[in-house]
Amino acid sequence: MQQPKKIAIVGSGLVGSLLALYLRKNGHQVTVFDRRPDVRKVEFSGRSINLAMSNRGWKALREAGIEEEIRKLALPLNKRAMHVNDRPVYFQKYGKEEEAIYSISRGVLNRRMITLAEEAGAKFRFEEKVWDIDLPNATLFTGESEKSVWKEYNFDLVFGADGAFSRIRHKMQRRSRFNYSQHFIDVGYKELSIKANPDGTHKLDNSSFHIWPRGEFMLIAMPNLDGSFTCTLFLPFEGDISFESLDTEEKTEAFFENYFPDIKGEISNLKKDFFRNPTSAMVTIKCFPWSYWDKVALVGDSAHAIVPFYGQGMNAGFEDIQVLYRKMEKYGDDWERIFREYETERKPNGDAIAELSYRNFIEMSSKTADPDFLLRKKIEKHFSDRHPELWVPLYSRVTFSDKPYAEALAIGDRQRKIMDEVMNMEDIEDKWDSPEVENKMVSLIKNEEF
Ligand SMILES: Cc1cc2nc3c(=O)[nH]c(=O)nc-3n(C[C@H](O)[C@H](O)[C@H](O)COP(=O)(O)OP(=O)(O)OC[C@H]3O[C@@H](n4cnc5c(N)ncnc54)[C@H](O)[C@@H]3O)c2cc1C
Repeated sequence: MQQPKKIAIVGSGLVGSLLALYLRKNGHQVTVFDRRPDVRKVEFSGRSINLAMSNRGWKALREAGIEEEIRKLALPLNKRAMHVNDRPVYFQKYGKEEEAIYSISRGVLNRRMITLAEEAGAKFRFEEKVWDIDLPNATLFTGESEKSVWKEYNFDLVFGADGAFSRIRHKMQRRSRFNYSQHFIDVGYKELSIKANPDGTHKLDNSSFHIWPRGEFMLIAMPNLDGSFTCTLFLPFEGDISFESLDTEEKTEAFFENYFPDIKGEISNLKKDFFRNPTSAMVTIKCFPWSYWDKVALVGDSAHAIVPFYGQGMNAGFEDIQVLYRKMEKYGDDWERIFREYETERKPNGDAIAELSYRNFIEMSSKTADPDFLLRKKIEKHFSDRHPELWVPLYSRVTFSDKPYAEALAIGDRQRKIMDEVMNMEDIEDKWDSPEVENKMVSLIKNEEF
């Protein structure tokens, strides 16, 4: 049990709302600030992207007591549907029979979570931007603009859940021995959509995550409950085939005709939406420490923004909250210890999922259509089905388990070395499911020096 504290959360995004629920469980007085208007009252607020919720996210929601509520908003996807030009669509199962990721609209999820946090007793202050924080005193300053007269709020503790470009972190950055890095990738993204059929059904298989891998770029699509799909085009900002080079409607249409002929006709208002919808950037942000004594701590994207190619940003942020809560249970009112242990446990995992996410862009866009890569996956799957105790594929370890991301990265690197050896075996294409290959894998796994 903890002494109730007066706590502020800056940011009513997914991670801030979940934290509000967890803090209310322990009886704290919680005020959540957000610079945006209340997303529940604005028709087209927030970005329309849909997210993949996986095991870690569900686990954190379960402990908050809201898993069932949120499951109603999500669609299970148990496989990838690969759309490679000149080939019929083919499917790759994500994991075991019952394993799936869940497609959920970020806006719908955020609205529901704010309502649930509010019902649990958290207070929300929308359209109140935090401009500054006095770290030692956990005092927030909000106002209309940087130059306006600011309101001052005093708290016992403040959490920064204010996303990748966090103001709270910004203030911490000015302190000595605070480490910080940010890295934008050269690829941007743009959202497009596919409308539902007139009878409300989906135009593509609605239990698949659809991918059109095209090497340097790719298109993905995830289903929504209303029969539509949200598509995301990932494309370099500059270069021969890039957002910069697609500067007319004609060029854009020709690009889609050339690279995505099977889906071009289904994308609604393609030419208009392509030019109307923003092109957004993707960034990896790392920093440390994530806390200031017993007063302030960072959670979610403000501590570790990652590129979205493993579908883990929100899941990792939700897991932060669960770990933080474990520490609250263990150390009671010793907030300094809670924060220290929380950041020490989470930082290596934040770095690991950042690395895995970055690598997965290469895998999703260029390798998923490569025959060698497909053979590798086939061998791994075959072996893992026969020896689940010896081989859990990296994707499953990240997505369907709750083992630390850092462990998944380390084991994944070892598995890659083993698979390199296996792929070098003579005539591997013909004997991939033979006892010889199986025995080789078992011996490599058992070889501790390998
Ligand atoms: C294209 C794309 C696809 C993604 N797909 C997935 C996926 O499939 N699965 C997954 O798990 N994750 C995914 N993510 C990542 C996920 O969206 C983020 O990790 C998650 O939304 C982070 O939540 P957050 O609450 O930490 O931050 P945010 O969602 O950024 O929320 C921050 C909040 O703080 C508020 N705020 C900011 N500054 C201030 C201020 N000064 N004062 C007051 N309020 C402030 C903002 O208005 C906002 O409401 C994806 C991200 C992108 C870009």
